[in-house]
Amino acid sequence: MSTTTSHSEAPPSRAERTAHVTCPLCEATCGLEVTVRGDGREPGDVRVRGDRDDVLSRGYLCPKGAAIGELHADPDRLRRPLVKRDGVHVEVSWEEAYAEVARRLSAVQAEHGRGSVAVYFGNPSAHHLAGALYLRPLVRALGTTQVYSAGTVDQVPKMFASGYLFGDVATVAVPDLDHTDHLLLLGGNPLVSNGSMMTAPDVRGKLRRIRERGGSVVVVDPVRTRTADAATEHVAIRPGTDALLLMSLVHTVLDEGLDDLGRLAEHVSGLDEVREVVAAFPPEATAEHTGVDAATTRRLARELAAADRAVVYGRMGTTTSGFGTVASWLVDVLNVVTGNLDRPGGAMFPKAAAGQPNTRPGPRKPFRHGRWHSRVQERPEVMSELPVATLPDEILTPGAGRVRAVVTVGGNPCLSAPDSARMQEAFGSLDLLVCVDPYLNETTRHADVVLPGPSPLERPHYDVLLYQYAVRNVAHWSPAVVDTDVPQEWRTLLTLSGIAAGLGPGADVDALDDEVARQVAASYGVTAAAGLTGPERLVDLMLRGGPYDLTLADVQAAPHGVDLGPLQPRLPEVLSTPSGTVELAAEPFLRDAERLRVTLDEPVGDGLLLVGRRHLRSNNSWMHNLPALSGGTNLCTLQVHPDDAERLGLVDGGPARVVGPAGEVEAPVEVTDRVRTGVVTLPHGWGHDLPGTRGEVAAARPGVNSNLLADARTLDEPTGTATVNAVPVTVVPVSVPTLTVVD
Ligand code: SF4
Repeated sequence: MSTTTSHSEAPPSRAERTAHVTCPLCEATCGLEVTVRGDGREPGDVRVRGDRDDVLSRGYLCPKGAAIGELHADPDRLRRPLVKRDGVHVEVSWEEAYAEVARRLSAVQAEHGRGSVAVYFGNPSAHHLAGALYLRPLVRALGTTQVYSAGTVDQVPKMFASGYLFGDVATVAVPDLDHTDHLLLLGGNPLVSNGSMMTAPDVRGKLRRIRERGGSVVVVDPVRTRTADAATEHVAIRPGTDALLLMSLVHTVLDEGLDDLGRLAEHVSGLDEVREVVAAFPPEATAEHTGVDAATTRRLARELAAADRAVVYGRMGTTTSGFGTVASWLVDVLNVVTGNLDRPGGAMFPKAAAGQPNTRPGPRKPFRHGRWHSRVQERPEVMSELPVATLPDEILTPGAGRVRAVVTVGGNPCLSAPDSARMQEAFGSLDLLVCVDPYLNETTRHADVVLPGPSPLERPHYDVLLYQYAVRNVAHWSPAVVDTDVPQEWRTLLTLSGIAAGLGPGADVDALDDEVARQVAASYGVTAAAGLTGPERLVDLMLRGGPYDLTLADVQAAPHGVDLGPLQPRLPEVLSTPSGTVELAAEPFLRDAERLRVTLDEPVGDGLLLVGRRHLRSNNSWMHNLPALSGGTNLCTLQVHPDDAERLGLVDGGPARVVGPAGEVEAPVEVTDRVRTGVVTLPHGWGHDLPGTRGEVAAARPGVNSNLLADARTLDEPTGTATVNAVPVTVVPVSVPTLTVVD
């Protein structure tokens, strides 16, 4: 059965139809009520509102979800494949595009070996059913260990720390926002990002309800963000020092005897080693570095320990500043020593209905990393991936094993990875670049072949990955709302898999899909309902093999989702560490803690530090091409504190040159006391003024690419995750030439 339908012979019906779907644009997974006329591509053809009956989001939606119709109708969104001929992208048939891929990919593999082909998965792949289910078969077919993703720009330290603490990178403890009384939030701005490594629609409402029940929300951030506005306290920390503050918080809890593990005590190991490590980090020793005085740190620790139901949550700022692994580890150490891991209102383990490794019966292999290393920088693999920061090294450095071809799926590494100029140079030098992507963006402009997929309204969806981080257990199937003649992406990925495996461009996709399904069925020990194919069949298998004995039909019968209830304690069954305990003192943590301790002996610099920022209407490097999300306060400005602006001679609205370790950019200044002194911010994902791209709205307001500034060598050591926050920069005003009128 093909999931592609053609409407070339008869125009689509103009009759309205309404569907209830999950918004796939960010981690919040809100329920949308979408009403469509025709093919949804005429103005006013798509109407969106929050689904009030959705079991998770209860009617919440943000401007991005409301603009999903614009995304669907965007005239710049690709609907046919492109092949580059004489330096120009031209539309071709799918057969021509696949023939081009087959001819050139097999040539690269034959000449340079399978390891010369790299794969990069962007952030949208995680929000896409085809990406979640059919990328691994593609990697296996390519037979390469050159695998990269956007995860090594932001989130791998959290998964790595969870892997060593709990045994699996997908066993991540999320804040039980609906029941906590005290939230200590570091380096995250969920009112704007809508959550990260935490699927929680309407964070604003959840924080308000914490305050209404007498609780507290403490936000630690160098910037007074919108989340900080909604908090009971804002602590303006120096960028890049969250790990030091966390060390001092753990130190205070243990040193003052405030620790109380309760029922956790029998499930935890390594506390004595933690006690030894944190002894070197009393609040008085870290205060100058963090900018948080010792009395405040001690008070924060005491309040956390005293709260009945408290939770610590750290995100982007904690994982992108050079010590992401240590910071992520310490977040959960704090949750453990205050007795808040795995209890309602604390940090809890979701139990997803489909696909979560920690719900599978039988023994599971403990997480390990470093099974192979990158060729040039010798960085260890983590989760079978290498750091994207080192991808340019692998492409540009001559020698055996050099990467000569890249396949990207839904990503824009030329904007989103550090030292973007070098990434651009690397992508421009490839023998072959194949991109599965709906836009001609800053990365795909280098592509030899671009293969677009359907819009979010043209494909079915189930959030296999994000329900693993949901603050409530739910399941929701979204049907495709609009027919399309763009092939479903799972078929494209399987076709590429067939080409990569040497079967040629005409491989039997349905037979390949049968093989994928056979393997999934075998691993779960179940059989799918008859007649299903593609993602429907795989989701049905995973639901049947999951912890609730659901089927796809059960979930499809509930248009607003299936509510599986609040998070429940899961220790010890959720653990898969070698000891069967929460391993607080795994060797990678202790080793990197020593690297952190050394920084205490270094002088505290007085230079400016750059941090990133998010806007509610932005989503990394994409969605800048939608008119509804452009304008207003969604601006690519350099935010500077008034004192710094005066000291540096910067004026509000005037241009400034920002110079970082890897490059420089010029951006308009926005003077604001929302940033602390010594800190400047730029949003990421901008810089849409490169030739060869196609995005009329984005190009009209291009902004500048902040990732031109960060270097690609300063990384979180255990994971190789990029340091795109706390980047040292200098800022100078740019003199604007004045017009001299001569009589
Ligand atoms: S918060 Fe995220 S999931 Fe919800 S509507 Fe906005 S973009 Fe979609």
